[in-house]
Amino acid sequence: MALTGVEIFKLLPKTNCKKCGHPTCLAFAMKLAQRQASLDACPDVSEDAKKLLGEASAPPVRPITFGAGDKAVKLGEETVLFRHEKKFVNPCAFAVEIKDTSREADVLKTIEDVLGSEIDRVGQKLRVDAILISNASGDPKALESVSRLVSEKAAGVPVIISTTDAGAAVSALGYFKDKRPVLFGANANNIESMAKAAGSFKAILGVTANGLDELISLTEKAKSLGTEDLVVDPGARKAGGIIEQNTIIRRAAIKKNFKSLGYPVITFAQRDDNMLESLIAVAGVAKYSSIIVLSSVTKWKSLALFTLRQNIYTDPQVPMQVEQKIYKIGEPTPESPLMITTNFSLTYFIVSGEVENSRVPSRLAVMDCEGLSVLTAWAAGKFTASKIAQFIKEAGIENEVSHRELIIPGYVAILSGAIEDKLEGWKVTVGPREANAIPAFLKSK
Ligand code: SF4
Repeated sequence: MALTGVEIFKLLPKTNCKKCGHPTCLAFAMKLAQRQASLDACPDVSEDAKKLLGEASAPPVRPITFGAGDKAVKLGEETVLFRHEKKFVNPCAFAVEIKDTSREADVLKTIEDVLGSEIDRVGQKLRVDAILISNASGDPKALESVSRLVSEKAAGVPVIISTTDAGAAVSALGYFKDKRPVLFGANANNIESMAKAAGSFKAILGVTANGLDELISLTEKAKSLGTEDLVVDPGARKAGGIIEQNTIIRRAAIKKNFKSLGYPVITFAQRDDNMLESLIAVAGVAKYSSIIVLSSVTKWKSLALFTLRQNIYTDPQVPMQVEQKIYKIGEPTPESPLMITTNFSLTYFIVSGEVENSRVPSRLAVMDCEGLSVLTAWAAGKFTASKIAQFIKEAGIENEVSHRELIIPGYVAILSGAIEDKLEGWKVTVGPREANAIPAFLKSK
């Protein structure tokens, strides 16, 4: 069970020295209890208290790094049931299955699809994160052969080795030394040998069970064998069962601090029907899966799943925003048009994309409105005539352009007169309301 604020307070030095940034030890204890502070902030806490508090203040879902290097993904570390309570911390990873029964050409094609899956959306790089190599043949040599190919052609991509044969696992894991792979397939019959194999390669152990009771006994067994980093599969394969089991696991971890279920969950969504597979993956993204296994990389499927994942794992209290500045699009000359918009990421990327599409070199003045879109910022009093005039004056744009024409979004046409009043010598032109009309608008100028 998690400790209360008062229980935590009893273990702190009680000197109220403020080194942790809080006015009293009690205030710090309350923040620790709410998981809004880290124990590291108190330099004077005793080793004994650290041990007790460290366990109590650890995230209820164990944080695990899967893979190594630039493409490593963090799993778990979640502290809430619902995104609006705080935020979801580590986005789920998408993995694509490669069966060791596949022809080499098909293996290479899937690897190519994974490597080419990355897209840029509102400034974030989104991709299929991992490859799951499954020992569908049951032949250790086939698993080893595909593992070798993946290690050579997809270096750096986090890997899951899926087998129930610990001997086969050892040969395959040899290709991913120090790469923090997942060894998936530990069950009631093989958990000792699988835990040993995972331990030899510092791999994360993937535990698979037929239901939650069995899963609990398996995670407890793994822990008794010294294996702490686990991902868990409670066994459901249909959407309803996945949602039900994932929800029970998350509730037990968050609400009861039940350590035996406090691990990232892996979900298997593979289907012959891509649409059905996507819907099952959607259930996993929305309801607590940390790794979701797909059968293939398909552009439309990736785009839908990436977008959903990005939305769910965005901090709802912090709008996504870009830096306030004058962005040059193409190679603008002093005569090139000057447009203005707000710094909400989606607004910026859509508007700048359409300006690029126009092929008219331009300047885009992006004004800090705390990440709000144009109309919201205007309604909130953050995108007003006086603030726009002040920004244009302070940005030094008058030294960069030879004209004095500012194009404002059509939705705030009402501001044009007031901006002209405040920006002496400037002409304000009302641009399109919708970004997709920007190319025609710019070309007509
Ligand atoms: S740094 Fe430690 S001792 Fe000082 S006020 Fe914070 S919790 Fe108390």
